[in-house]
Amino acid sequence: MLKFLKFALEPTPEIVYNIRMKKTFQATSKAPVLDEFYAETFGVDRVKSVETGTCVSCGGDVLKTSFRDSLSFKEFTISGLCQPCQDSIFGYSEE
Ligand SMILES: [Zn+2]
Repeated sequence: MLKFLKFALEPTPEIVYNIRMKKTFQATSKAPVLDEFYAETFGVDRVKSVETGTCVSCGGDVLKTSFRDSLSFKEFTISGLCQPCQDSIFGYSEE
C-alpha cells in the first residue's frame, strides 16, 4: 500500500519514461482562474499542453526533453513548463 502511494505521488524516472512513451500526461487540477491566466499569458490551454506533452512557454515537444528528476516532471504537470523553461524561469545552478 505504501509502495503504491509512493508510486502515485512520486513517479520514478523509469515510470516517467513509460508515461512519456504512451503520451499520457495528466495535468494537475488548478483553479479555473489560473488556467485562464495561462491561456492569456501563454495563449495556450495548460491542461491540453500537459496532456499532449507540449511546453506552454516555448511550445517545444516535452517528449524530447528529459526532466532532471521526478520533481521537475511534477512541475511540468503543474506549470506545463519543459525543463529548459523551468530552469530559465525558476533558475538552476549545479552544486
Ligand atoms: Zn519550454
